[in-house]
Amino acid sequence: MPADFPLRRRLFGNRTLNLRRIRAVGYDMDYTLVHYRTEEWEGRAYHHARRLLARRNWPVEDLEFDPARVIRGLTIDLELGNLVKPTRFGYVIRAAHGTRFLDFEEQRAAYAGVVVDLGDPRFVFLNTLFTLSEATLYGQLVDLLDAGRLSGLMSYADLYRVLRATVDEAHLPGTLKEEILADPLRFLEPDAEIATALLDQRYAGKRLMLITNSDWGYARRLMEIALDPSLPQGTSWRDLFDLVIVGADKPGFFTEPRPLHRIVDEEQGLMRPHHGDLEPGGVYFGGCAPLVEEHLGLSGDEILYVGDHLYADVSVSKAVLRWRTALILRELETEIDDLEAFRPSEDALKALMAEKEDAERRLARARLDRQRARHGYGAPLAPPPADADAEIASMQEALVALDDRIAPLARAAGEVHNPWWGPLMRSGYDKSLFARQVERYADVYTSRVSNFLYETPYAFLRAARSTLPHDPC
Ligand code: IMP
Ligand code: MG
Repeated sequence: MPADFPLRRRLFGNRTLNLRRIRAVGYDMDYTLVHYRTEEWEGRAYHHARRLLARRNWPVEDLEFDPARVIRGLTIDLELGNLVKPTRFGYVIRAAHGTRFLDFEEQRAAYAGVVVDLGDPRFVFLNTLFTLSEATLYGQLVDLLDAGRLSGLMSYADLYRVLRATVDEAHLPGTLKEEILADPLRFLEPDAEIATALLDQRYAGKRLMLITNSDWGYARRLMEIALDPSLPQGTSWRDLFDLVIVGADKPGFFTEPRPLHRIVDEEQGLMRPHHGDLEPGGVYFGGCAPLVEEHLGLSGDEILYVGDHLYADVSVSKAVLRWRTALILRELETEIDDLEAFRPSEDALKALMAEKEDAERRLARARLDRQRARHGYGAPLAPPPADADAEIASMQEALVALDDRIAPLARAAGEVHNPWWGPLMRSGYDKSLFARQVERYADVYTSRVSNFLYETPYAFLRAARSTLPHDPC
């Protein structure tokens, strides 16, 4: 591993992945091969969704997109109109109703008996950066609904359904996509190293595929702009890919049989139904994953799929087809930077927490000794103090003083990466529900595709040894 290989650019393994055994690599496009400046892209998606909502005469003109208010991996609670951050066990540690954060008591009242289960239609998980505009808007619309300013709506779930349909409409080929195509470099964050990483894989004998939900006209232009300038002269992104599938409609692509079309006129985007073998280098629309396996003559564990959507790209391809999976998580870079910057405070917090644990244990023992002394049974755990009550009172005071020192550090730890929601991968002291989903479905995760460059196509990526509470340290 090169000495200059920073943590933020590494591949992290949840399960061992021997890249030499991978014979084909499928790539998602948006936010995977093509990374967007999220503020710009989501800013326009927000703008167009708001424009469509205004057509219903909803009073949304004054609403503004604030990209910092929502992070990927949060969950919308459709029953209460809340945005919540759960732990890996589904316990809610932070919640906002509309745009207002709940205080501790409100949160406890709302979620004491609730476990966030992503299989429950009550909850909507924010799987991708494409959900940031939608979730921001949802919070703002909840405020309007509560204020009685939206007519004809019944519930927070109904509100979400209207918004969902609106966001879908904004993403259809049309104004938003045209805006991106008219000035792609405003939206795109090019990564010149991706082309080399793909060439490495191709010359190492792997067959590459593009499998995107985007339409042909959009995908073609974006891939050209993102990759062609960094490829050897006279070649284009098309030379890299054995198979191109647009309009894939993931996750359905991985779960159901779907008809396949071939794009027969690439300029006009004309297509016709396709039956029989797939032609290497061809561009197809729709279809389904078993057709790809058949075309490649490979089984699921020889295919790696790389995508940014935790559900549509990674969870389903793993759960249904046992493909190997890599999740692209760009926020990991700033999250790691922020965690590194916070490290001195984190160390101080750990030391104080260890002190607190020790003080609590001594207090519990002193209480038990006092109880045993009162009732005249058992042996004392520590030499009896002259005045047990006074001793216990002073231990309690010391603990309060310790808590006063811990509180600002714990608060700051909860604000690392995002001032409202904290880190993506942690919920308080625990892993976040998002981190749990990543662990479960992504064999490896990394911040961007070009990180494969550093690992090479020959790497044997090992899972990190996981820890358990009883591990001797
Ligand atoms: P992929 O990530 O390359 O598979 O494709 C993402 C495509 O899905 C892009 O064309 C997005 O505009 C589109 N997209 C993202 N979010 C939504 C949505 O909520 N509704 C409809 N289309 C979406
Ligand atoms: Mg994507």
